[in-house]
Amino acid sequence: VSDDPYHHDKKEITPAQWADQAALEIGLAVNKLCIHEPRCEQPKDNQKGEPIYAGGPKLKGRAIEKLIQNLPLRPWSEHRACILEDLRDPKRVHVDPLGNVHLCQGISIGNILQQPLSRLLKNYDPDSHPICGPLLKGGPAQLARHYEVAVQPGYVDACHMCSMVCKALMSRFPEILTPSQVYGVF
Ligand code: SF4
Repeated sequence: VSDDPYHHDKKEITPAQWADQAALEIGLAVNKLCIHEPRCEQPKDNQKGEPIYAGGPKLKGRAIEKLIQNLPLRPWSEHRACILEDLRDPKRVHVDPLGNVHLCQGISIGNILQQPLSRLLKNYDPDSHPICGPLLKGGPAQLARHYEVAVQPGYVDACHMCSMVCKALMSRFPEILTPSQVYGVF
């Protein structure tokens, strides 16, 4: 359960704490996740003297708008690779309550309510996947170029840009860039 101010307003007892307590009472193991505020660092060997985003939460999905405030941006064209997922040879996927199988948050390879997971994984072809193909070729910058998505001058990191470009492409790939709530569209 996620228990931090990004998931719940400042409540005396958060929904996550209620869930944690309920789990304890029925003997269910629970892991608690807590996101810390992202920070900027000014490394000594940074020749250009620009601050860089140094850790903190992953800048993906609907949390982005809350997380990127005051973080430094890098030009969009520099985000030329996916930085966190192995899209060519994924070792894990995420399955959401609607059955979507995600390679990364909001990037689906199909739905287990329509096809078995084993078949989805067997049929996954990274280069021909409409989103992963361009990402593998040149990261979010290439994804934006490929589909002629209007970009902002800069983004904090590749995931920030990727999420924004995918959000702009949702209506073109509704079965892949799903569910919409991942992108903050309800
Ligand atoms: S958000 Fe995009 S760039 Fe970041 S890990 Fe996921 S697929 Fe890769």
